[in-house]
Amino acid sequence: MSARESIVPVFVPHLGCPNDCVFCNQRRISGSAVPAAPEDVVRAVERALEVTPPGTRRQLAFYGGSFTAIPAREQEALLEAAAPYLRRGDISSIRLSTRPDAIDGAVLARLKRCGVETVELGAQSMSDRVLALSGRGHTAGDVREASRAVKAAGFRLILQMMTGLPGSDDQSDADTARELAALGPDGVRVYPTVIVRDTALFDLWRAGRYKEHTVEDAVRVCARIVPIFDAAGIPIIRMGLNPTEDLSGGDAVGGAYHPALGELVRARIMRGKAEAALEGAMPGGEAVLRVNPRLMSQAVGQHGENRDWLREKFGLKRLKFVPDACVETLEPG
Ligand code: SF4
Repeated sequence: MSARESIVPVFVPHLGCPNDCVFCNQRRISGSAVPAAPEDVVRAVERALEVTPPGTRRQLAFYGGSFTAIPAREQEALLEAAAPYLRRGDISSIRLSTRPDAIDGAVLARLKRCGVETVELGAQSMSDRVLALSGRGHTAGDVREASRAVKAAGFRLILQMMTGLPGSDDQSDADTARELAALGPDGVRVYPTVIVRDTALFDLWRAGRYKEHTVEDAVRVCARIVPIFDAAGIPIIRMGLNPTEDLSGGDAVGGAYHPALGELVRARIMRGKAEAALEGAMPGGEAVLRVNPRLMSQAVGQHGENRDWLREKFGLKRLKFVPDACVETLEPG
């Protein structure tokens, strides 16, 4: 998707999903309880046509659920509702998300025929133990196989992973990122685990059988994961669940729910660079860090968090961040 493309979202909560992952309550995560019908597709596109100027590139996106696990006739009905708009150029592309074990040759042929451009796979982890403990009902092998098939059929591939699932740790989450990067996706989404009310994970947590993956845990592990995807040139399309009214209104009862998680992670990565740059700084002294202006807010951190942390760690009297366009990221002053 280009930066100027606008998204036309259609939610297919839980529709077609054969199982219940411990963390999932799609009705709450997507903020909608009613499965999508062809009329919803028409309504969503017509609404987009009203509110976006002519010439806008619009991508129809089926969110949630497991699109390709829906009965074939229903998949076709949803996609056929979009077909006239696709032909007229009112929408420029279609994307959908699904489970890795709901992909095969016939499924991909159908999606191709109906004009789908991008397939997102919920991989979540590449540890079979973590997948089993999370009730995913598929294996890492399914992720590998489906990813290869999606790419070989000429679709854009987006992979989703989670951190902090039951049985995972920072190392297994970083290993998952490395394995997903090796599959060569066109983009990834990283979703640290959020404890949502009325899920199996909520019960496990309340029973003391699952340790919450806090915002701090998510920031720490994502600060390891992001450089893996960055180094592979794979865009991270999203970090953290999109805030919704329901989640913010009390359905997200714990875990890594934060509206600006990605910013926190990027700031943590910059803190690591600053830490290395300040190595050997004199306690009680003053230090200067030269920072590329576009990275200034990440360097200083939210509410000056990085500056305070670094000053305390190195016992500095004063720490100054100076904008310098000649510096790629951050250097000692
Ligand atoms: S496969 Fe997707 S929709 Fe189904 S329970 Fe798991 S996360 Fe929810």
